[in-house]
Amino acid sequence: MNALFSMPIAEEAAGLLKRLEVPVASFSGGNRAVRSPITGEVIGEVHDQTADEVAAVIDLAHQAFLTWRKVPAPRRGELVRLLGEELRGAKADLGMLVTLEAGKTISEGLGEVQEMIDICDYAVGLSRQIFGLTIATERADHRMMETWHPLGVVGVISAFNFPVAVWSWNAALALVCGNSVVWKPSEKTPLTALAVQALFDRAVAKFADAPAGLSSVVGGDRQVGEALVASNKVPLISATGSTAMGRAVGPVLAARFARSLLELGGNNAAIIAPSADLDLTLRGVAFAAMGTAGQRCTTLRRLFVHESLYDGFVERLKKAYASVSVGDPRKSENLVGPLIDKASFDGMQRALDDARAAGGKVSGGGEVHVAGEGYYVRPALVEMEAQVAVVRRETFAPILYVMRYRDLDEAIALNNDVPQGLSSSIFTNDMREAERFVSATGSDCGIANVNIGPSGAEIGGAFGGEKEPGGGREAGSDSWRAYMRRATNTVNYGATLPLAQGVKFDI
Ligand code: NAD
Repeated sequence: MNALFSMPIAEEAAGLLKRLEVPVASFSGGNRAVRSPITGEVIGEVHDQTADEVAAVIDLAHQAFLTWRKVPAPRRGELVRLLGEELRGAKADLGMLVTLEAGKTISEGLGEVQEMIDICDYAVGLSRQIFGLTIATERADHRMMETWHPLGVVGVISAFNFPVAVWSWNAALALVCGNSVVWKPSEKTPLTALAVQALFDRAVAKFADAPAGLSSVVGGDRQVGEALVASNKVPLISATGSTAMGRAVGPVLAARFARSLLELGGNNAAIIAPSADLDLTLRGVAFAAMGTAGQRCTTLRRLFVHESLYDGFVERLKKAYASVSVGDPRKSENLVGPLIDKASFDGMQRALDDARAAGGKVSGGGEVHVAGEGYYVRPALVEMEAQVAVVRRETFAPILYVMRYRDLDEAIALNNDVPQGLSSSIFTNDMREAERFVSATGSDCGIANVNIGPSGAEIGGAFGGEKEPGGGREAGSDSWRAYMRRATNTVNYGATLPLAQGVKFDI
């Protein structure tokens, strides 16, 4: 047997944490057991922070912000460059830790760390490109401009399924924008967060003059998240997770007029049009629906197939579903790893029962016994006559609902007729259809793709969705503006005082 698989996962995780220089005391002897979804084995015991400890971390982060905002942005970029270097050096270990703690395949674990490296590179460039506009003014001898300033402490709340990348999308930008960061990772994936913190601390040690507490992790469940959200010292909360979490967080932030950047649940669709390249489409659909065991916010969950293709394409898809190997994500032949836990498994089975009750024809979806207490399932394909209630809600598991459509208007209406507007795709070689799909009368999602699936975004674009996903945008394009405050400045360099709109006030 391969040595990797003969070693208990706890031992493997402890070895990785040691190599990543995470202090042993932070992941042993604590009050919260961390389980690997691969076997259910306990791989760490972390400490939850008390409300007082969270408040102290926020205070320190606020102090750090007061210093950090004065450091020139390109110099702040240097710290993020050093972080990117640490991530490059630790990619294999951190990627494997993601696999052990979140159950992603090795290639996906590595991909997640690569995404962190990419956003660091992006943020380094951004640190020399933070700019505002100069605007024509109606008054003589005046100049009007906008300037962008650091905001304060940025609170980051993240979900289990992107245990490290989501922090980096936020932190890399927040740091070059002059902010400090307090991170509340998912209680299901605290070890990878501790490892990232160790890498950040190493970058800080090389940088030499970063203030203490510039970026910290606070461990615990929703109570710790709530403490972060309630703090008046945190002007922006970027929260990634379920819509239920967003519904709780949003009003608290609104009540204290704080900013929110919400990245919540999706229910993503793809349309397969008559002219689609079906080989390309099959791969695109299979990866988007089954990759990460259906546990991506952008996972493909609804498929609308033109009636002229339906029977043949669904037949091919069923074969692809039957052939995909489910199992230990450390083995490269397995493309589908475990669900995160039993609650997730139960939720999937409930959704399949609801689909059957609504007339759905289910193939797959059953449990696959792999190891210990890991919850592995065969991805499910469910043929539905209509987009009923179960199809319209997000079930965070590998279920793909397949429906037929007759014309593009109907398909676009179905794509949009759900509360979530995160990601979407059309597979077509018809230029008119493609352009219509990405136009104002097409998909209503934050992400609308042509001839690629809805999952797997690059960091260069702004990432996020409309409606229930919460409207937040992270990563590239102009997302950095969410992490800064804008000031409009009008400067009078003349000797008179003309008032705007010609108003007279002579004393
Ligand atoms: P979750 O909502 O259970 O937890 C997410 C985080 O929120 C955790 O850190 C949790 O402790 C915290 N939290 C929960 N309630 C809170 C509250 N009231 N106040 C403050 N913090 C609170 O989500 P999960 O199960 O970890 O992740 C899966 C969900 O995340 C799915 O719905 C998925 O679509 C979504 N997600 C969205 C995106 C996106 O970018 N749109 C990305 C990844 C995951």
